[in-house]
Amino acid sequence: MHYITISIFIILFSVSSLAQTTFSGGQISSGKITSSDTLNSSQDSLIDGKYTFKEVLNEKTELYFTPDISQKTIGNVKEWYEIAIQNWGLIGPLEIYIIGNKISDAKVLEDYFCQKHVKLDKEWKTKFNLEGWSVKYDCASDRHKIFTQYVEDGGASISTYRKEHLNYEFYVMKLASKRPYPDEEDYKVTLLHEYFHVYQHHNISGKCSDDRRKKCERDKKATGEYDKRPWFHEGGAEYSGQLLYRETTGNKKYFFNQMKRKLKKSLNRYKSEYNMDLKSITYKKDKNIAYDIGSWFIAYLYSKEGEEKHKNNFYKDLDKLGFEGSFVKNFGKSSDEYIKEFNKFITKPWSQIQKILP
Ligand SMILES: [Zn+2]
Repeated sequence: MHYITISIFIILFSVSSLAQTTFSGGQISSGKITSSDTLNSSQDSLIDGKYTFKEVLNEKTELYFTPDISQKTIGNVKEWYEIAIQNWGLIGPLEIYIIGNKISDAKVLEDYFCQKHVKLDKEWKTKFNLEGWSVKYDCASDRHKIFTQYVEDGGASISTYRKEHLNYEFYVMKLASKRPYPDEEDYKVTLLHEYFHVYQHHNISGKCSDDRRKKCERDKKATGEYDKRPWFHEGGAEYSGQLLYRETTGNKKYFFNQMKRKLKKSLNRYKSEYNMDLKSITYKKDKNIAYDIGSWFIAYLYSKEGEEKHKNNFYKDLDKLGFEGSFVKNFGKSSDEYIKEFNKFITKPWSQIQKILP
């Protein structure tokens, strides 16, 4: 559930690292080889004789997966993706990559991803740029692992390719096959969480540079700071995902237990190590505490303001007014004041805290 996790390491693209795996070219029942796709060129998924499994979900969304992903998992991803777009709108272009358990398969996907985007955008960076180490690199390599790290570490993420040097803008959703595992309820909630990030980013215009010396307005609008903070951005994605899962399945017990667990895991350290300063928690350190306490901040916000003000109004005003401007306009006070109020609430006894959950 990382926010953008693009490594700053830049090295030459190494063709020798390409996997030797060749996917079989036969049809599989749900995923299909692109030659039978109607919306894309037939060559799209055939790279150097290797096939990438792909499905076109709609005019804005493509789904890719490694050969070891089961039909059940593909079905789940499609089902919960549909639920996400029904709730937050169809946003794209979005490429969803489901990564399985083999590094070699993930490397084939990385190779495909690079070649696809080189074709789509001549500005795509395939080589180390000598202008400086602060300039990133768009393709994949052993140091800049786009998909292979998900085989190793698990998890999921959204990357926004809305960069100054690129002409073709798009989003990438990556779903690994562990932490959470595809058969867990968490896997579905994670997908919703990640799609909510697409929704958040979609409400912000402007591109950012790969050059880290240049400030990124997009980061500040999304998270409140140039040096990104997870509390609101991640808390919003997590609580929105949990809530939509609860509404869709009717599984109140799962939702309640998840929220209870989040508080139990984070509250003591939030108090003792962070002195209840929600904004002091960064992505680099202890971001999980910010995810958990942040989810409770959003739950508290919903209990006071209702869901619509966050989901619609805040994000509608965000691009024009900025994070704090939209916060004050829609929630009636500064984010610092709101956090102070929240801190009083979250230190009450559990019997009172739990009452705000739907
Ligand atoms: Zn997230």
